[in-house]
Amino acid sequence: MSTNPTPDLPRLPDGMRILTHEEMRRVRDAAHDVARRHGVFTPVADEISYDALAVAGIFIQPYTPGPDECTAMYLPHTDDVTADMRGVWQQCADEPDHDGADHDSGEFGWRDGDMGAVPARPVEA
Ligand SMILES: [Zn+2]
Repeated sequence: MSTNPTPDLPRLPDGMRILTHEEMRRVRDAAHDVARRHGVFTPVADEISYDALAVAGIFIQPYTPGPDECTAMYLPHTDDVTADMRGVWQQCADEPDHDGADHDSGEFGWRDGDMGAVPARPVEA
């Protein structure tokens, strides 16, 4: 069984940042409190919270890439990205350890070194 490492965080333009895990927990707790008071399904509250923060340039932590996949990730963060995709982490859909610095999730293509990109890291055996 292989274990993929937790990715590093990407470079982002000035004024944008990634929430810490503690900040994410506090945002989620606050959203769930409001959701319960108003009878809203909590995953909907999460999506509203995170999408609203993403519009302001504040993004959630990347998830841990799945096993047996390229671990390169990309955070769509620019104004030309539709609101439903902004801040939604993308993982490269190509083979692990593929050649080159170009990655593709099916929705987005990017290169290592691009703003918002987290390069692939070796998968520990
Ligand atoms: Zn890749």
